Amino acid sequence: ITEFVTAVESGRQGVAPRLAPGRYAERFGGQLVLVTGAGSGIGRATALAFAEAGARVVCVDRDGGTAADTAGRCRAAGAPEAWAETADVGDEQAMEKLAEKVATAYGVVDVLVNNAGIGLSGPFLDTTPEDWRRVLDVNLWGVIHGCRLFGRQMAERGQGGHIVNTASAAAYQPSRALPAYATSKAAVLMLSECLRAELAGRGIGVTAVCPGLVDTGITSAARFTGVDAEEEKRRQRRAARLYGLRACPPEKVAAAVLEAVVRNRAVVPVTPGARGARLLSRLSPGA
Ligand code: NAD
Repeated sequence: ITEFVTAVESGRQGVAPRLAPGRYAERFGGQLVLVTGAGSGIGRATALAFAEAGARVVCVDRDGGTAADTAGRCRAAGAPEAWAETADVGDEQAMEKLAEKVATAYGVVDVLVNNAGIGLSGPFLDTTPEDWRRVLDVNLWGVIHGCRLFGRQMAERGQGGHIVNTASAAAYQPSRALPAYATSKAAVLMLSECLRAELAGRGIGVTAVCPGLVDTGITSAARFTGVDAEEEKRRQRRAARLYGLRACPPEKVAAAVLEAVVRNRAVVPVTPGARGARLLSRLSPGA
């Protein structure tokens, strides 16, 4: 986390590596990769990037149709095998069933990408307990279940592995706009750091990826608490102006995920560019 905050403050973030499939094929070819939230946005792009590198990919989403679509694209992109699984990552029993099925039918996962997440904007005083539960169930508990179930399988197998958790730039940047979302992501960032220390001795790497604004379904569907639809639109426009940056494509985050696994990085910020990083780092509480 210190490494990450230093990088942000010095404006060094936002330089995503270029994807070089040939190089990644050596590392990921034939490996089993599981991506949650694979039906859209960053998850889909990440599943496809691993597929291009020749990995076998399990595409998990609560929306089975979009997961199946991504699995089909993975096969077309070069994955020797790709499967779709429907599961709500926040549902403990569903995740236990998923972990059992994956281990039995496909094997022990080599790379786990806990990516599924939902967005929620709105001041703390407008945020209901139900809002909190919804966000924490998916964004935090989803990651906990994934790490716990698949991390244990990796540890028991004893051949190492890697876990990538999708946090967010919001994890370290206080803002009155995103108290519930930012809290969930800050927890994911800290969990990733703790787990990294715990699992290092077993050859299992853990990475927290922290994207800034990315052009995906979550951006256009961002919900605001306590306001009507017109005000919600106004706030979305205002937020876009405030950030003052173009959203980066999900493929850039996907590229950073593969590179992070190869280099076993702890925390990886991904933003549209250094200008965006400076603007983000200036966003103070109350911005
Ligand atoms: P997205 O909405 O395009 O994709 C999210 C996917 O997760 C969808 O396919 C959705 O069906 C699935 N999903 C949602 N809840 C689920 C659940 N309970 N169980 C299983 N699947 C579920 O969003 P995205 O932008 O690609 O988001 C991916 C991750 O990146 C999230 O964790 C998000 O918080 C994080 N992130 C996004 C941005 C951004 O600006 N888009 C920035 C930082 C971090």
